[in-house]
Amino acid sequence: MPDKILFVINKTSGENNNDWQAGIEAYFKGKDVVLEFYHLPDPVDCNSLDQYIKDAKADKVVAVGGDGTISLVAKSVRGTPMILGVIPAGSANGMAKELMIPTKLEDALQIIDSGRQTYMDTILLNDKHLCLHLSDVGINAQLIKNFEEGDTRGKIGYLKVAWKTIIRRQALEVTIKNDDKSFCRKAIMVVIANAGKYGTGAVINPEGEIDDGLFEIVIVKRLTLWGFLKIMLSLGFDNKNMEIHQTRSVNILAKHRAHFQVDGEYIGKVDKIAAIIQPKNIRIMLPQA
Ligand SMILES: [Mg+2]
Repeated sequence: MPDKILFVINKTSGENNNDWQAGIEAYFKGKDVVLEFYHLPDPVDCNSLDQYIKDAKADKVVAVGGDGTISLVAKSVRGTPMILGVIPAGSANGMAKELMIPTKLEDALQIIDSGRQTYMDTILLNDKHLCLHLSDVGINAQLIKNFEEGDTRGKIGYLKVAWKTIIRRQALEVTIKNDDKSFCRKAIMVVIANAGKYGTGAVINPEGEIDDGLFEIVIVKRLTLWGFLKIMLSLGFDNKNMEIHQTRSVNILAKHRAHFQVDGEYIGKVDKIAAIIQPKNIRIMLPQA
């Protein structure tokens, strides 16, 4: 039987008006595959999507969109034999960049067609949120919230919001418990990292591997003005202000409720985060090594 590939297309993501379905059909023309397309409605109904994916019984399910679309599809395919594919089509393609998936449609399709099939870990947060990439509590989540609330346009608008956020930054007081140890820190943010870098290119977790059965807790203790500029210029974080712990699970308790985000999606304020690794939870198509 030919392979069946289901494409979940988020046409509202990104800025271009590509006809993704036409491009995909053209690429596979004459090949022995069955294609199916699901165009995400706006707003998305997560339950219908999940049911659709389960009923489709596809071999591969491809997210055509940004980080949010990948997260949606990942939630349905995790723990199943279905293989996740990614076509970067969002305004934020942090996860695709991390996975080295090219933005050119034909190149991304080639990976889905004949790339390397492998596995990746996920992190389960507070028993309900699935993290493939990076989650954090503190200033970055605050920044995401401020962007969502504001009417931010363009690079200047982005910088203005970022600047306001950093000027008003407040340190978190956290207790971190993992394995048999427990320690307290003051920090500007604490990252729960499955991967290595943010969509801007700023490396937060140089040792991060998506398939080693471990994740990292990255504590950013201070953020200086120069440190902030370095992040904005995608030069990375000041290592001397960071502390990294590798683990399989962690509990983070914040003295005061603080902003929390998962894979770029603002969740709300929390004072507790329980994180646990789910090793090799997702089958995925990646570029040949
Ligand atoms: Mg890892």
